[in-house]
Amino acid sequence: MGNRVRGLLPKYILTGACLAVLLSAIGSLRAHPTPSELAAPSSPKARQAQQPSPTSQPATSQAPASPAAPPSPGTTSPSAAPQTTPPAQPAGLNVVVLDPAHGGTDLGARGTGGIRESEIVLEFAAQIRTALESLGFQVMQTRQGNQNPSFDDRSAIANAQRGAVFVTLHIASTGMPGTARVYVMTDLPPGNDATGLISWDRAQAPFLSLSRKFGDYVQGFLAQRFKGSPNTVQAAAVRQLRTTAAPAIAVEVSSVAVEDRAALDRMAPGVADAIARGASAFRPSYVIAANPGERP
Ligand SMILES: [Zn+2]
Repeated sequence: MGNRVRGLLPKYILTGACLAVLLSAIGSLRAHPTPSELAAPSSPKARQAQQPSPTSQPATSQAPASPAAPPSPGTTSPSAAPQTTPPAQPAGLNVVVLDPAHGGTDLGARGTGGIRESEIVLEFAAQIRTALESLGFQVMQTRQGNQNPSFDDRSAIANAQRGAVFVTLHIASTGMPGTARVYVMTDLPPGNDATGLISWDRAQAPFLSLSRKFGDYVQGFLAQRFKGSPNTVQAAAVRQLRTTAAPAIAVEVSSVAVEDRAALDRMAPGVADAIARGASAFRPSYVIAANPGERP
């Protein structure tokens, strides 16, 4: 896979494809890691990155205490007691973190018609959000307007949740217009430190198989809607995914090269529907460990 990615790099660098520029950056970093690129395992982020842990345990293992337990004699009725804690979230996928990539001074890919990736992804995010909320998901966005949070800040939003998935949104400058592709991170070595913590920059490693499953669902729905799109998820070294401790995918829509941006606007409802249906199909597969510190 690494060879495939590297083989594509010159084309992407010349055309300025946004997602692929990230690939090129990661490619060189992987070959020549710098100190800042390597994990700081003692940082709080490294600890955060370990949670939540996916597990194959059945959901029932961490269900809230049974409400059917009868009161013991001599005690007041538990149903009359004031609630001092919020109800526990059901196990599994509850939150979708949407990441409209780029922003601020980083415009992302730009088309000749004045189309800016950083603006289009925000508009896609709004429609994706509506589609997800209609299926009962809570949606968080890494940016609401024209800001440009760091990669780590964007990942941290997902890493702070239990039961979240992460979707980063891009509009490519390459690819057949009217198609869409889903990427997951390439294989990562576990890279645990001496304490067994997973380092921040490999936070995605334990989630790769879940990410592929999630990505395949979304790609399948995209392929039904947008002819010429792949049928299955592809792997690539996408920087944003690597530090995300949750099932995480990159969705890339083609392309900013369309002459009329209405062609992209028309794709937004289909992309939103595919992501929402993909998240819904994936939902039963994502079970959270009862013990947050438990290793997958
Ligand atoms: Zn991009």
